[in-house]
Amino acid sequence: VPELPEVETVARDLRERLRGRRVTRLECSGLPLRMNKPVPRQRIERAAVGASVRDVWRRAKYIIVAFSSNQALLVHLGMSGRFEVLPVSEPRRPHTHLVFTFGGGEELRFTDPRRFGMVTAYPLGSLDASEELRDLGPDPLDAAAFTPESLADSLKGTQGANIKAFLLDQRRVAGIGNIYACEALYRAGIDPRARARTISRGRATRLHAAIRDVLEQAVQKRGTSFRDYVDSWGRAGENQLALRVFQREGEPCPTCSTPVRRIVQQARSTFFCPRCQTR
Ligand SMILES: [Zn+2]
Repeated sequence: VPELPEVETVARDLRERLRGRRVTRLECSGLPLRMNKPVPRQRIERAAVGASVRDVWRRAKYIIVAFSSNQALLVHLGMSGRFEVLPVSEPRRPHTHLVFTFGGGEELRFTDPRRFGMVTAYPLGSLDASEELRDLGPDPLDAAAFTPESLADSLKGTQGANIKAFLLDQRRVAGIGNIYACEALYRAGIDPRARARTISRGRATRLHAAIRDVLEQAVQKRGTSFRDYVDSWGRAGENQLALRVFQREGEPCPTCSTPVRRIVQQARSTFFCPRCQTR
């Protein structure tokens, strides 16, 4: 499942590859995507067709493609979404839902077998107030918005939530999912069952650094690929080889050799070292 580093990788690729290029045509499968909602074809068409790409960036797990029309695509990859730039001549994969044709023989294709992804469009000026973005917390790669102090304050403001649930709450920190929550808690030495509110300022500082480290490392390695995730070239990332506890149940902890444990929290697997990580 794409989290911040995977989405960042795709957004950087698209910025590099599409900036200044013009969309000549849009094709749509007509099938609904996330929450069984129809794709707003006309809005997307108005935003993109005949316009050129001005910039591409990421907010939390969303990709934003801004056009010269002063409108922007807002895209979420969901569970299995891919956003690839491929030659027109390359056969389309099954479950291709949107195709943006560019001059020069290339297409931007959105494919999504499980259809948990989302593609919509907004005027640039109302993007931040959109229902998708307005409640998001600070982005961990935004050094001004996400600081050790802001994290410590946010932790103190929680009720009964454990630290794992806190990290997955997009209103608290935006962009982290299951993989990087597990990895960050491991690096910070914090038990995933610890109450968020009880985490000291010193440990919050360590957690802040751990979050930045695991995310930056994953961006460098172009994301974690277990099943579906690929970059804009259709290539898998390499960060799965650098994970220390995620999906490593029973394997020795890299620090103390205690077998990595798996528990279920909020219906999702958490992996951690029962010795290195304390409450
Ligand atoms: Zn350990």
